[in-house]
Amino acid sequence: MPALQPVRGTHDLLPDDNRRHRRVVEIARDFAERYGFEEMVTPIFEFTEVFARSIGETSDIVSKEMYTFEDRGGERVTLRPEATAGIVRAFISNGLHQNLPLKYFYHGPMFRYERPQKGRLRQFHQIDVEILGVAGPQADIEVIAIGRDIIDGLGIGADVTLELNTLGDSESRRAYRGVLVDYLSQHKDKLSKDSLDRLERNPMRILDSKDEGDRRIVANAPVYSDYLNDASRRFFLAVRDGLDRLGIKYTINPRLVRGLDYYCHTCFEFTTTALGAQGTVLGGGRYDGLIKLMGGPETAGIGWAAGIERLAMMLSEAPRAMRPIALVPIGEAADVRAITLAHELRQAGYRVEHGYGGNTGKRMKRANKLNARAAVLIGDDELQRNAATVRDLDTGEQTDVPLSELTGRLARFK
Ligand code: ATP
Ligand code: MG
Repeated sequence: MPALQPVRGTHDLLPDDNRRHRRVVEIARDFAERYGFEEMVTPIFEFTEVFARSIGETSDIVSKEMYTFEDRGGERVTLRPEATAGIVRAFISNGLHQNLPLKYFYHGPMFRYERPQKGRLRQFHQIDVEILGVAGPQADIEVIAIGRDIIDGLGIGADVTLELNTLGDSESRRAYRGVLVDYLSQHKDKLSKDSLDRLERNPMRILDSKDEGDRRIVANAPVYSDYLNDASRRFFLAVRDGLDRLGIKYTINPRLVRGLDYYCHTCFEFTTTALGAQGTVLGGGRYDGLIKLMGGPETAGIGWAAGIERLAMMLSEAPRAMRPIALVPIGEAADVRAITLAHELRQAGYRVEHGYGGNTGKRMKRANKLNARAAVLIGDDELQRNAATVRDLDTGEQTDVPLSELTGRLARFK
Protein backbone atom coordinates (compact mmCIF):
# COMPACT_ATOMS: atom_id res chain seq x y z
CA MET A 1 0.00 0.00 0.00
CA PRO A 2 1.46 3.45 -0.85
CA ALA A 3 2.13 5.71 2.13
CA LEU A 4 -0.71 8.05 2.98
CA GLN A 5 -0.24 11.63 1.82
CA PRO A 6 -1.60 14.87 3.27
CA VAL A 7 -4.08 16.78 1.09
CA ARG A 8 -2.31 19.28 -1.17
CA GLY A 9 -2.10 22.71 0.43
CA THR A 10 -2.47 21.42 3.99
CA HIS A 11 0.41 21.17 6.40
CA ASP A 12 1.24 19.62 9.73
CA LEU A 13 2.22 21.96 12.50
CA LEU A 14 5.08 19.97 13.94
CA PRO A 15 6.17 21.20 17.39
CA ASP A 16 8.65 23.85 16.17
CA ASP A 17 6.14 25.29 13.69
CA ASN A 18 3.40 25.08 16.22
CA ARG A 19 5.44 27.09 18.70
CA ARG A 20 5.75 29.85 16.12
CA HIS A 21 2.01 29.77 15.53
CA ARG A 22 1.36 29.85 19.23
CA ARG A 23 3.64 32.82 19.67
CA VAL A 24 1.62 34.74 17.05
CA VAL A 25 -1.67 33.86 18.71
CA GLU A 26 -0.39 34.59 22.22
CA ILE A 27 1.01 38.02 21.34
CA ALA A 28 -2.21 38.83 19.47
CA ARG A 29 -4.37 37.65 22.34
CA ASP A 30 -2.33 39.65 24.83
CA PHE A 31 -2.91 42.88 22.88
CA ALA A 32 -6.53 41.94 22.23
CA GLU A 33 -7.06 41.79 25.98
CA ARG A 34 -5.40 45.14 26.56
CA TYR A 35 -7.60 46.70 23.88
CA GLY A 36 -10.75 45.09 25.25
CA PHE A 37 -11.43 42.58 22.47
CA GLU A 38 -13.09 39.42 23.71
CA GLU A 39 -12.18 36.07 22.21
CA MET A 40 -14.89 34.05 20.51
CA VAL A 41 -15.11 30.92 18.42
CA THR A 42 -17.63 30.09 15.71
CA PRO A 43 -18.06 26.79 13.81
CA ILE A 44 -15.59 25.78 11.14
CA PHE A 45 -18.43 25.26 8.69
CA GLU A 46 -21.57 27.26 8.02
CA PHE A 47 -24.38 27.18 5.51
CA THR A 48 -22.89 28.20 2.17
CA GLU A 49 -25.24 31.15 2.03
CA VAL A 50 -23.46 32.76 5.02
CA PHE A 51 -20.35 33.25 2.89
CA ALA A 52 -21.95 33.64 -0.53
CA ARG A 53 -24.04 36.55 0.69
CA SER A 54 -21.42 38.27 2.76
CA ILE A 55 -18.23 37.88 0.76
CA GLY A 56 -20.03 38.41 -2.53
CA GLU A 57 -20.60 36.21 -5.57
CA THR A 58 -18.06 38.13 -7.66
CA SER A 59 -15.18 37.77 -5.23
CA ASP A 60 -12.36 35.29 -5.89
CA ILE A 61 -13.26 33.53 -2.67
CA VAL A 62 -16.85 32.77 -3.55
CA SER A 63 -16.40 32.31 -7.29
CA LYS A 64 -13.50 29.89 -7.14
CA GLU A 65 -12.01 29.19 -3.73
CA MET A 66 -14.69 27.77 -1.45
CA TYR A 67 -14.79 24.23 -0.11
CA THR A 68 -18.49 23.62 -0.51
CA PHE A 69 -20.27 20.30 -0.23
CA GLU A 70 -23.60 18.76 0.45
CA ASP A 71 -23.78 16.95 3.77
CA ARG A 72 -25.65 13.69 4.30
CA GLY A 73 -28.82 15.56 5.06
CA GLY A 74 -28.66 17.43 1.76
CA GLU A 75 -27.63 20.77 3.30
CA ARG A 76 -25.13 22.88 1.37
CA VAL A 77 -22.33 23.78 3.74
CA THR A 78 -18.93 25.44 3.30
CA LEU A 79 -15.67 25.25 5.24
CA ARG A 80 -15.16 28.84 6.28
CA PRO A 81 -12.78 30.78 4.03
CA GLU A 82 -12.57 33.70 6.48
CA ALA A 83 -13.83 34.74 9.90
CA THR A 84 -15.93 37.88 9.55
CA ALA A 85 -18.97 36.21 7.97
CA GLY A 86 -19.24 33.68 10.80
CA ILE A 87 -18.84 36.36 13.45
CA VAL A 88 -21.54 38.51 11.87
CA ARG A 89 -23.79 35.46 11.51
CA ALA A 90 -23.23 34.71 15.22
CA PHE A 91 -23.94 38.35 16.11
CA ILE A 92 -27.25 38.15 14.29
CA SER A 93 -28.37 34.67 15.33
CA ASN A 94 -27.56 35.29 19.01
CA GLY A 95 -29.35 38.66 18.99
CA LEU A 96 -26.28 40.48 20.30
CA HIS A 97 -27.26 43.90 18.96
CA GLN A 98 -28.54 44.92 22.44
CA ASN A 99 -24.94 44.99 23.67
CA LEU A 100 -23.20 47.23 21.15
CA PRO A 101 -20.45 48.15 20.77
CA LEU A 102 -18.84 44.71 20.64
CA LYS A 103 -15.22 43.86 20.10
CA TYR A 104 -14.10 40.36 19.15
CA PHE A 105 -10.78 38.62 18.79
CA TYR A 106 -10.62 35.42 16.83
CA HIS A 107 -8.12 32.86 15.61
CA GLY A 108 -8.42 29.57 13.80
CA PRO A 109 -8.10 27.61 10.56
CA MET A 110 -9.59 28.86 7.27
CA PHE A 111 -10.02 26.96 3.99
CA ARG A 112 -9.61 28.17 0.43
CA TYR A 113 -9.08 26.18 -2.73
CA GLU A 114 -6.04 28.06 -4.01
CA ARG A 115 -2.88 27.13 -5.89
CA PRO A 116 -0.54 26.18 -3.05
CA GLN A 117 2.79 27.98 -2.87
CA LYS A 118 4.95 29.60 -0.23
CA GLY A 119 2.63 31.53 2.08
CA ARG A 120 -0.48 30.29 0.27
CA LEU A 121 -2.22 27.18 1.54
CA ARG A 122 -5.58 25.51 1.30
CA GLN A 123 -5.89 25.18 5.04
CA PHE A 124 -4.27 28.18 6.68
CA HIS A 125 -4.80 30.10 9.90
CA GLN A 126 -5.81 33.62 10.72
CA ILE A 127 -5.99 35.96 13.65
CA ASP A 128 -8.79 38.44 13.35
CA VAL A 129 -10.32 41.41 15.19
CA GLU A 130 -13.70 43.04 14.65
CA ILE A 131 -15.45 46.06 16.18
CA LEU A 132 -19.21 46.13 15.72
CA GLY A 133 -21.37 49.16 16.37
CA VAL A 134 -18.89 52.04 16.17
CA ALA A 135 -19.50 54.33 13.20
CA GLY A 136 -16.81 56.88 14.05
CA PRO A 137 -13.13 56.90 13.08
CA GLN A 138 -12.01 55.99 16.61
CA ALA A 139 -12.70 52.36 15.73
CA ASP A 140 -10.66 52.59 12.53
CA ILE A 141 -7.75 54.07 14.46
CA GLU A 142 -8.04 51.42 17.15
CA VAL A 143 -8.07 48.38 14.87
CA ILE A 144 -5.09 49.69 12.93
CA ALA A 145 -3.25 50.50 16.15
CA ILE A 146 -3.72 47.00 17.53
CA GLY A 147 -2.53 45.55 14.23
CA ARG A 148 0.61 47.65 14.46
CA ASP A 149 1.13 46.68 18.10
CA ILE A 150 0.83 42.97 17.37
CA ILE A 151 3.26 43.18 14.46
CA ASP A 152 5.73 45.20 16.53
CA GLY A 153 5.17 42.86 19.48
CA LEU A 154 6.23 39.95 17.27
CA GLY A 155 9.50 41.76 16.60
CA ILE A 156 8.88 42.05 12.85
CA GLY A 157 7.72 45.68 12.77
CA ALA A 158 10.74 46.99 10.88
CA ASP A 159 9.89 44.76 7.91
CA VAL A 160 6.19 45.59 7.70
CA THR A 161 4.59 48.69 6.16
CA LEU A 162 1.05 49.98 6.61
CA GLU A 163 -0.77 50.89 3.40
CA LEU A 164 -3.90 52.93 3.74
CA ASN A 165 -6.76 54.05 1.52
CA THR A 166 -10.34 55.18 1.75
CA LEU A 167 -13.33 53.89 -0.18
CA GLY A 168 -15.49 56.81 0.95
CA ASP A 169 -19.20 56.59 1.65
CA SER A 170 -21.81 55.21 -0.72
CA GLU A 171 -22.51 58.60 -2.33
CA SER A 172 -18.83 59.05 -3.18
CA ARG A 173 -18.60 55.49 -4.49
CA ARG A 174 -21.62 55.97 -6.73
CA ALA A 175 -20.07 59.13 -8.19
CA TYR A 176 -16.75 57.43 -8.79
CA ARG A 177 -18.19 54.18 -10.05
CA GLY A 178 -19.90 56.07 -12.88
CA VAL A 179 -16.72 57.73 -14.16
CA LEU A 180 -14.67 54.59 -13.62
CA VAL A 181 -17.03 52.43 -15.67
CA ASP A 182 -17.09 55.10 -18.42
CA TYR A 183 -13.30 55.15 -18.52
CA LEU A 184 -12.85 51.37 -18.42
CA SER A 185 -15.52 50.85 -21.08
CA GLN A 186 -13.34 52.78 -23.53
CA HIS A 187 -10.67 50.12 -23.02
CA LYS A 188 -12.91 47.08 -23.06
CA ASP A 189 -10.98 45.37 -25.84
CA LYS A 190 -7.81 45.37 -23.73
CA LEU A 191 -9.21 44.32 -20.36
CA SER A 192 -8.61 40.81 -19.04
CA LYS A 193 -11.54 38.41 -18.98
CA ASP A 194 -11.84 38.61 -15.19
CA SER A 195 -11.96 42.39 -15.33
CA LEU A 196 -14.54 42.36 -18.13
CA ASP A 197 -16.72 40.17 -15.91
CA ARG A 198 -16.33 42.69 -13.12
CA LEU A 199 -16.94 45.78 -15.22
CA GLU A 200 -20.65 45.92 -14.43
CA ARG A 201 -20.88 44.02 -11.16
CA ASN A 202 -17.79 45.07 -9.29
CA PRO A 203 -15.71 47.62 -11.24
CA MET A 204 -13.64 48.88 -8.27
CA ARG A 205 -12.00 45.49 -7.98
CA ILE A 206 -10.42 46.08 -11.39
CA LEU A 207 -8.24 48.71 -9.71
CA ASP A 208 -6.44 45.95 -7.88
CA SER A 209 -6.16 43.52 -10.79
CA LYS A 210 -2.81 41.73 -10.98
CA ASP A 211 -3.01 41.42 -14.79
CA GLU A 212 -0.29 43.48 -16.52
CA GLY A 213 -2.60 44.75 -19.28
CA ASP A 214 -5.23 45.79 -16.75
CA ARG A 215 -2.60 47.57 -14.72
CA ARG A 216 -1.56 49.70 -17.69
CA ILE A 217 -5.16 50.77 -18.22
CA VAL A 218 -5.77 51.37 -14.54
CA ALA A 219 -2.65 53.54 -14.28
CA ASN A 220 -4.46 56.30 -16.20
CA ALA A 221 -7.89 55.82 -14.66
CA PRO A 222 -9.60 58.72 -12.87
CA VAL A 223 -8.41 58.90 -9.27
CA TYR A 224 -10.97 58.14 -6.60
CA SER A 225 -9.77 60.79 -4.16
CA ASP A 226 -10.99 63.44 -6.62
CA TYR A 227 -14.54 62.12 -6.20
CA LEU A 228 -14.78 61.89 -2.43
CA ASN A 229 -17.46 64.07 -0.88
CA ASP A 230 -16.75 66.26 2.14
CA ALA A 231 -17.99 63.78 4.73
CA SER A 232 -15.73 61.06 3.34
CA ARG A 233 -12.74 63.39 3.19
CA ARG A 234 -13.29 64.44 6.79
CA PHE A 235 -13.61 60.84 7.94
CA PHE A 236 -10.33 59.92 6.26
CA LEU A 237 -8.58 62.96 7.68
CA ALA A 238 -9.72 62.01 11.19
CA VAL A 239 -8.31 58.48 10.76
CA ARG A 240 -5.03 59.85 9.46
CA ASP A 241 -4.85 62.39 12.25
CA GLY A 242 -5.35 59.64 14.86
CA LEU A 243 -2.61 57.52 13.32
CA ASP A 244 -0.29 60.53 13.21
CA ARG A 245 -0.91 61.23 16.89
CA LEU A 246 -0.03 57.63 17.68
CA GLY A 247 3.12 57.86 15.60
CA ILE A 248 1.88 55.10 13.28
CA LYS A 249 3.44 55.54 9.85
CA TYR A 250 1.60 54.68 6.66
CA THR A 251 1.70 55.17 2.93
CA ILE A 252 -1.42 56.03 0.98
CA ASN A 253 -2.12 53.43 -1.69
CA PRO A 254 -4.98 54.56 -3.95
CA ARG A 255 -5.07 51.11 -5.60
CA LEU A 256 -5.98 49.41 -2.36
CA VAL A 257 -9.65 48.47 -2.74
CA ARG A 258 -12.22 46.08 -1.45
CA GLY A 259 -14.76 46.06 -4.18
CA LEU A 260 -18.02 45.14 -2.52
CA ASP A 261 -20.75 47.64 -1.90
CA TYR A 262 -20.83 47.27 1.82
CA TYR A 263 -17.17 48.20 2.23
CA CYS A 264 -16.65 51.88 2.95
CA HIS A 265 -14.18 54.41 4.26
CA THR A 266 -10.98 52.98 5.66
CA CYS A 267 -9.21 50.03 4.08
CA PHE A 268 -5.67 48.97 4.84
CA GLU A 269 -3.03 46.32 4.49
CA PHE A 270 0.17 45.57 6.35
CA THR A 271 2.66 44.38 3.76
CA THR A 272 6.23 43.13 3.64
CA THR A 273 8.89 42.48 1.06
CA ALA A 274 10.35 39.72 3.25
CA LEU A 275 8.05 36.95 1.99
CA GLY A 276 8.35 37.17 -1.79
CA ALA A 277 5.12 37.19 -3.76
CA GLN A 278 2.80 36.70 -0.78
CA GLY A 279 3.54 40.12 0.70
CA THR A 280 0.30 40.93 2.51
CA VAL A 281 0.35 39.78 6.10
CA LEU A 282 -2.79 41.59 7.28
CA GLY A 283 -5.76 43.14 5.51
CA GLY A 284 -8.90 44.83 6.67
CA GLY A 285 -11.39 47.61 6.42
CA ARG A 286 -14.73 49.08 7.33
CA TYR A 287 -17.87 47.17 6.33
CA ASP A 288 -20.82 49.27 7.54
CA GLY A 289 -23.33 47.71 5.14
CA LEU A 290 -22.52 44.06 5.79
CA ILE A 291 -24.61 43.28 8.85
CA LYS A 292 -27.77 44.66 7.26
CA LEU A 293 -27.01 42.78 4.07
CA MET A 294 -26.80 39.56 6.10
CA GLY A 295 -30.22 40.18 7.59
CA GLY A 296 -29.30 41.94 10.83
CA PRO A 297 -30.03 45.46 12.07
CA GLU A 298 -28.06 48.26 10.44
CA THR A 299 -24.76 48.18 12.35
CA ALA A 300 -21.34 49.62 11.62
CA GLY A 301 -18.39 47.26 11.50
CA ILE A 302 -14.67 47.27 10.97
CA GLY A 303 -11.99 44.61 11.31
CA TRP A 304 -9.00 42.85 9.87
CA ALA A 305 -7.56 39.40 9.40
CA ALA A 306 -3.90 38.39 9.34
CA GLY A 307 -2.35 35.17 8.08
CA ILE A 308 -0.65 33.31 10.91
CA GLU A 309 1.58 31.29 8.54
CA ARG A 310 2.92 34.46 6.94
CA LEU A 311 3.55 36.14 10.31
CA ALA A 312 5.09 32.96 11.74
CA MET A 313 7.49 32.70 8.79
CA MET A 314 8.75 36.18 9.63
CA LEU A 315 9.66 35.35 13.24
CA SER A 316 13.43 35.32 13.42
CA GLU A 317 13.63 32.13 15.49
CA ALA A 318 11.23 29.54 16.80
CA PRO A 319 10.33 30.35 20.39
CA ARG A 320 11.88 27.80 22.75
CA ALA A 321 9.84 25.48 24.89
CA MET A 322 10.20 25.82 28.69
CA ARG A 323 13.40 24.02 29.70
CA PRO A 324 12.58 20.81 31.57
CA ILE A 325 13.95 19.21 34.70
CA ALA A 326 15.22 15.72 33.84
CA LEU A 327 14.68 12.90 36.30
CA VAL A 328 17.48 10.35 36.21
CA PRO A 329 16.71 7.36 38.41
CA ILE A 330 19.44 4.77 38.78
CA GLY A 331 18.24 1.27 39.65
CA GLU A 332 14.85 -0.40 40.07
CA ALA A 333 13.82 1.15 43.37
CA ALA A 334 14.65 4.60 42.08
CA ASP A 335 12.69 3.92 38.89
CA VAL A 336 9.59 3.34 40.98
CA ARG A 337 10.24 6.37 43.20
CA ALA A 338 10.72 8.53 40.07
CA ILE A 339 7.10 8.01 39.08
CA THR A 340 5.75 9.71 42.20
CA LEU A 341 8.54 12.26 42.27
CA ALA A 342 7.78 13.33 38.69
CA HIS A 343 4.14 13.68 39.64
CA GLU A 344 4.92 15.82 42.71
CA LEU A 345 7.15 18.13 40.70
CA ARG A 346 4.58 18.44 37.91
CA GLN A 347 1.91 19.27 40.48
CA ALA A 348 4.24 22.02 41.68
CA GLY A 349 4.40 23.47 38.15
CA TYR A 350 7.67 22.10 36.80
CA ARG A 351 8.09 20.65 33.37
CA VAL A 352 9.54 17.23 34.14
CA GLU A 353 10.99 14.75 31.68
CA HIS A 354 11.13 11.17 32.78
CA GLY A 355 13.88 9.16 31.11
CA TYR A 356 11.70 6.01 30.88
CA GLY A 357 14.57 3.61 30.35
CA GLY A 358 18.24 3.04 29.61
CA ASN A 359 21.39 3.49 31.65
CA THR A 360 22.48 6.74 33.25
CA GLY A 361 24.58 7.76 30.27
CA LYS A 362 21.68 7.32 27.87
CA ARG A 363 19.33 9.22 30.12
CA MET A 364 21.77 12.12 30.53
CA LYS A 365 22.17 12.27 26.76
CA ARG A 366 18.44 12.48 26.37
CA ALA A 367 18.28 15.19 29.06
CA ASN A 368 20.79 17.25 27.10
CA LYS A 369 18.91 16.72 23.87
CA LEU A 370 15.78 18.05 25.53
CA ASN A 371 17.79 21.08 26.63
CA ALA A 372 17.02 20.24 30.26
CA ARG A 373 17.97 22.95 32.75
CA ALA A 374 18.82 20.54 35.56
CA ALA A 375 18.99 16.81 36.25
CA VAL A 376 17.73 15.15 39.41
CA LEU A 377 19.71 11.97 39.97
CA ILE A 378 18.44 9.38 42.40
CA GLY A 379 20.25 6.12 43.04
CA ASP A 380 20.05 3.56 45.85
CA ASP A 381 22.41 5.58 48.00
CA GLU A 382 20.29 8.75 47.65
CA LEU A 383 17.08 6.83 48.22
CA GLN A 384 18.43 5.47 51.51
CA ARG A 385 19.02 9.04 52.67
CA ASN A 386 15.76 10.36 51.15
CA ALA A 387 17.80 12.75 49.05
CA ALA A 388 18.69 13.45 45.42
CA THR A 389 21.64 14.89 43.56
CA VAL A 390 20.66 17.98 41.63
CA ARG A 391 22.97 18.83 38.76
CA ASP A 392 22.86 22.26 37.14
CA LEU A 393 23.28 21.28 33.48
CA ASP A 394 24.56 24.72 32.47
CA THR A 395 27.37 24.90 35.03
CA GLY A 396 27.85 21.25 35.99
CA GLU A 397 27.55 22.21 39.67
CA GLN A 398 26.06 19.47 41.88
CA THR A 399 24.20 19.71 45.18
CA ASP A 400 22.75 17.16 47.54
CA VAL A 401 19.11 18.00 48.26
CA PRO A 402 16.71 16.27 50.71
CA LEU A 403 13.66 15.02 48.73
CA SER A 404 11.37 16.93 51.09
CA GLU A 405 12.98 20.21 49.97
CA LEU A 406 13.25 19.36 46.28
CA THR A 407 10.26 21.34 45.00
CA GLY A 408 11.49 24.56 46.60
CA ARG A 409 15.16 24.08 45.79
CA LEU A 410 14.47 23.57 42.07
CA ALA A 411 12.74 26.96 41.86
CA ARG A 412 15.87 28.66 40.57
CA PHE A 413 15.76 26.44 37.47
CA LYS A 414 12.23 27.36 36.47
P1 ATP B 1 -4.17 37.47 -1.14
O1 ATP B 1 -4.21 38.70 -1.95
O2 ATP B 1 -2.80 37.12 -0.63
O3 ATP B 1 -4.89 36.30 -1.76
P2 ATP B 1 -6.57 38.01 0.35
O4 ATP B 1 -6.98 39.38 -0.03
O5 ATP B 1 -7.25 36.85 -0.26
O6 ATP B 1 -4.98 37.84 0.20
P3 ATP B 1 -7.70 38.22 2.97
O7 ATP B 1 -8.94 37.54 2.60
O8 ATP B 1 -7.72 39.70 3.21
O9 ATP B 1 -6.55 37.89 1.93
O10 ATP B 1 -7.06 37.49 4.24
C1 ATP B 1 -6.24 38.15 5.20
C2 ATP B 1 -4.88 37.51 5.30
O11 ATP B 1 -4.97 36.11 5.40
C3 ATP B 1 -3.98 37.73 4.11
O12 ATP B 1 -3.37 39.00 4.18
C4 ATP B 1 -2.96 36.62 4.28
O13 ATP B 1 -1.97 36.98 5.24
C5 ATP B 1 -3.81 35.51 4.82
N1 ATP B 1 -4.20 34.57 3.75
C6 ATP B 1 -5.21 34.71 2.86
N2 ATP B 1 -5.28 33.62 2.04
C7 ATP B 1 -4.29 32.78 2.45
C8 ATP B 1 -3.84 31.49 2.03
N3 ATP B 1 -4.44 30.82 1.04
N4 ATP B 1 -2.79 30.92 2.66
C9 ATP B 1 -2.16 31.56 3.69
N5 ATP B 1 -2.54 32.77 4.13
C10 ATP B 1 -3.59 33.38 3.53
MG1 MG C 1 -6.84 35.56 -1.87
